[in-house]
Amino acid sequence: MHKTAFFTMDVESLYDSLALYQKGNQYNQKYSLEENLRYYLDLLEKYNIKATLFVVISSLNKCEGILKEALKRGHEIALHGLNHKSPMDMTDEEFILSIREGKKILEEKFNTKIIGYRAPMFGINEKRIEMLKKEGFIYDSSNLSFHLALKSGGIDLSNYNKCLNLVHEKDNFYEFSLAKVKAYSGHMPISGGGYIRLVPWFVMKYYILKFLRKTDSYIYYCHPFEICYSKLPKLSNINRREWMYMHQGRFNLLRKTKNIIKMLKRKKFDIMNFKEYIEKRQENC
Ligand SMILES: [Zn+2]
Repeated sequence: MHKTAFFTMDVESLYDSLALYQKGNQYNQKYSLEENLRYYLDLLEKYNIKATLFVVISSLNKCEGILKEALKRGHEIALHGLNHKSPMDMTDEEFILSIREGKKILEEKFNTKIIGYRAPMFGINEKRIEMLKKEGFIYDSSNLSFHLALKSGGIDLSNYNKCLNLVHEKDNFYEFSLAKVKAYSGHMPISGGGYIRLVPWFVMKYYILKFLRKTDSYIYYCHPFEICYSKLPKLSNINRREWMYMHQGRFNLLRKTKNIIKMLKRKKFDIMNFKEYIEKRQENC
């Protein structure tokens, strides 16, 4: 079995997090933290890993230079929306404008073809996938389908071809899904972000290892604000649960990420970005 893992990041502002976005905390460039993506890239590069970076256009001014450098070093740039509004809250016209304009801006700024998309807040459905295809995208990586992820959607993959456990293809369009495992009385996402930060590491490690024993694919994601050694700004109107979500586990997420890389290497996973995976598949056809 050929095993493949993918490392990604949703390059967005601290203020794009749902807890802040809903409570009206105004964007403050001084604390928005997009530039912290460099710590993630530094770690990945130690292991020669090329990631896919899903970029929110409204965050570009803080990290355009780092992204240009990342692209030169072999990482992939893809789209995470014009802003961070969930497509589930958009009209069709608004969604089409968001992906069309977003793609155009990234292609002009970075002089590279943009083929991938991840929906803000994983807000995807089949209608949105058809729109992505029409606008020239070749893959999506938004399928999480987790009931606790507010504003997320979901896709029925039953009529797709299964390339890997988490990779499906239909009419040359690919869906890279985020993994969940059966845990406690329901499901638990194990692909990254808040879940890896907030769930005690011995529990998360147990479930990731259990998953890796029987899977042929794994996808990891995180956000710049989650990898940070500096304090967060004062945030207004957030409750204790939201405060925990924003703060907890930020100081050791990189260490956990490193542990996950080591687990994948021990289990002989190839690690590449989505674009590379699709190119390799097409070469072999
Ligand atoms: Zn996001």
